[in-house]
Amino acid sequence: MQLFSPDNKEFSNLLTTFTSKADGNLAFHVKDNPLDVERNHEQLSKRLGYEKEKLVYMQQVHSNDVHLVTAHDTFHTPPTSDALVTNLKNTPLMVMMADCSGLLFYDPVHEVIAIAHAGRAGAFSNIVKNVIEKMHTEFGSKPEDILVWVSASIGVCCYEVGEEIAKEASSLGLDYAMDKKEDSYYLDINAILLKQLLAQGISEQKLHFATICTACNTQEYYSYRVEGLTGRFAGVIMLRESRT
Ligand SMILES: [Zn+2]
Repeated sequence: MQLFSPDNKEFSNLLTTFTSKADGNLAFHVKDNPLDVERNHEQLSKRLGYEKEKLVYMQQVHSNDVHLVTAHDTFHTPPTSDALVTNLKNTPLMVMMADCSGLLFYDPVHEVIAIAHAGRAGAFSNIVKNVIEKMHTEFGSKPEDILVWVSASIGVCCYEVGEEIAKEASSLGLDYAMDKKEDSYYLDINAILLKQLLAQGISEQKLHFATICTACNTQEYYSYRVEGLTGRFAGVIMLRESRT
């Protein structure tokens, strides 16, 4: 049983988690019965202690767009984007995955949170940079203060790509993230994300990668590569109103 969930006992006002198949499918767009998805959200919100109606998730489209969450965003109006940033309290942000990497960001100095969805497209277009820049321009976050947690995602062991994509990666200077075995190419998305995060000034000791391959661990996680039409697990982060 391989699971990864952030451990942040030092931040009593922060909620962070990655779900697994045990929490069920959380996505409405994968032909699951919407009532079941709704129930999974309901149960998760009770387990984690947030108001389901305040949860903001996204219509994820493999872009590098970052949406600033305001009080207008609700469970019923998911923005089309692949990252969310906010400093609102009691407003959980959710990113959904089935092989892609889900990232949670937290700046404890300015009390800012963010999430991002990064598959190949998000990694190639450096969504990580856009998130950190948005945290800075909107709230003054400094990269060296930001903590990052990265979910289970498809590993270089299983993420075979075709020659076209291998060429594209090469043209982007990403050869370091490519593994060639005989005539096949394998891509290491986490290696790209790691390099991008460090390049933005995030310190290595504040980076936490799950290093669990979803395709190797379909008991615990949804894997689009292995399962095709399947559910989505999620990353959730929320700032609680501090009780002082
Ligand atoms: Zn694997």
